[in-house]
Amino acid sequence: MCPPDTDSENVFLREKNGNLYYVVRNGKGNGRKESWYRIKDSEKDLIDRILEGKKQILDEIVEFPCMNPECRNKIKMTKEQLEEFFISYKKKYDMVVFPCCSKECRDRLLEIHGGELVCRNNKNQ
Ligand SMILES: [Zn+2]
Repeated sequence: MCPPDTDSENVFLREKNGNLYYVVRNGKGNGRKESWYRIKDSEKDLIDRILEGKKQILDEIVEFPCMNPECRNKIKMTKEQLEEFFISYKKKYDMVVFPCCSKECRDRLLEIHGGELVCRNNKNQ
């Protein structure tokens, strides 16, 4: 079970006919290839433990300072939420979002930065 060094985004776990496989995707577009590596039964436990450990890490609460420089509040979220927060907005809307503890802080932050930023969901508020 040693897939070649590759971008973690291109590695998947797949189940087929009761067997577990690492799937490594190479190339792009039409030249895309998938290599399947069977995971032995004896290695399944290890995978389970790794996945469980990963889940625990993602469940950890992190504190993030409110982006309003005048505010000292901290926003609590799990690492998973935090990752989701930054990555998904960047991917879906190609914009970076700044976490604020409240609507007031967000408004204040926009004010500081000229108030020209448009928040899609809050346009009419
Ligand atoms: Zn705040």
